[in-house]
Amino acid sequence: MAILPIVMYPDVILEQKCDPVIAFDKKLAKLLNNMYETMLEADGVGLAAPQVGVKQQIAIVDIGDETGKIEIINPKIIQIEGEQTGPEGCLSFPGLYGEVSRPFKVKIRAQDRKGRYYELKADDFLARAILHEIDHLNGVLFTTKVSHYLKEDELERYEQE
Ligand SMILES: [Zn+2]
Repeated sequence: MAILPIVMYPDVILEQKCDPVIAFDKKLAKLLNNMYETMLEADGVGLAAPQVGVKQQIAIVDIGDETGKIEIINPKIIQIEGEQTGPEGCLSFPGLYGEVSRPFKVKIRAQDRKGRYYELKADDFLARAILHEIDHLNGVLFTTKVSHYLKEDELERYEQE
């Protein structure tokens, strides 16, 4: 496995719609393994393929809860419900945090690394992380949804809660 360089804003690849994955092969498995390593190394909870320079609908999420690692390929959002507002950051924007409102619950349909379809329901922080990564696959960055940027002391207040 290898740590991949993370693409930083304002690289154009971050604002492009990604192509669907067609080949569920060894190359995809290797990319997913490397993305996971890269995400852990960067201390992130999610990473999308365009953030490592690959314009394909591939993302991983792991918020460190009992759900563990989620590999999300060619996702569709089936259902959303409720609303939550909270702090958000992005590995392509180091040191930048803002308040973002998102649905509280989400249900997605996606494919795993073998191409098998699955459905997943998530709420709260996991829903936020999944929706953030799916946005990346559509070329949508969290900065387009920030209601206000958080200064260091405001962010610390959130972390203490
Ligand atoms: Zn991001």
